[in-house]
Amino acid sequence: MKLVDCYKDAIKNGYALGAFNFCNLESLKAILSSAQKNNSPVIVAISSGALKYMGDEYVKGFMLASKKAFSIPMFFHLDHGKDYEICEKAINLGFDSVMIDGSALEFEENIKLTKKVADLAHSHGVQVEGELGRLLGTEDEHVGTQSIYTSPSQAKQFVEQTGVDSLAIAIGTSHGISKFSGEPKLAFDILEQIQTLVPNFPFVLHGASSVDEQTIVDINNLGGNISHAKGVPETMLEKACTKYNVCKINVDTDIRMATTRALRRYFKQNPESVDTKVYFKSAQDDIEQLVSHKICDVFHSNNKA
Ligand SMILES: [Zn+2]
Repeated sequence: MKLVDCYKDAIKNGYALGAFNFCNLESLKAILSSAQKNNSPVIVAISSGALKYMGDEYVKGFMLASKKAFSIPMFFHLDHGKDYEICEKAINLGFDSVMIDGSALEFEENIKLTKKVADLAHSHGVQVEGELGRLLGTEDEHVGTQSIYTSPSQAKQFVEQTGVDSLAIAIGTSHGISKFSGEPKLAFDILEQIQTLVPNFPFVLHGASSVDEQTIVDINNLGGNISHAKGVPETMLEKACTKYNVCKINVDTDIRMATTRALRRYFKQNPESVDTKVYFKSAQDDIEQLVSHKICDVFHSNNKA
């Protein structure tokens, strides 16, 4: 199955595919095991930082091995490709989907770059996500300092002129652990306007981790020091995918937090342990639990594979 077909089904049936970031074998296996258990299609996202960290050849090996080991529809996706070259590299490595993030460019420049990547990707049967509007926060090598909501009329023009398969929009989410200084708020009115002008089209929410308060408390009780953490409430994400055409929701921070809590807890409870496999397995189990929760309770992509 192709990712566009999954998006079509997601629009029709009111759910979203989780795009879960991974950076090692443990997180990758946890994400895929969870998707398999819940019979859910899944997007596994690799940032350019994670690609650098794991290395091209290892990522290639992970992709081949994963497709042999699991039978659910899975899509390896480049998260925040910042230029043509990194997207080209991902396409050549065998990614199923790439994001070209020209959101920091002027509108016309963003269209030009995104179209160039879309033309290349489509000639290889690879799907493309573009981004319009700006998100606050830091994710990997991606830094946003100014938040600008996506303009509905520009979204229409952008989709028509670039040929992208999905579009990341800015409606108030942001990257990193601290997403809101006050009450969390998403601009559903803007989403509604975008969707009226660009009907039946899949939209993407970045910076959509929920940054669970109890997890932060636990991490800090286990010796961590995290402050000013606030994420997007899961009820808002659920609304975005069940009532609107948000078909891909990105989760990175929540996975990092689950990993951090699991490892801190393990070391606290087992100060004598030096068994690498055992403590990394504890992180894997917790990531799997988190991903299952997102798939079944928030994105509702379970039993859609
Ligand atoms: Zn992002």
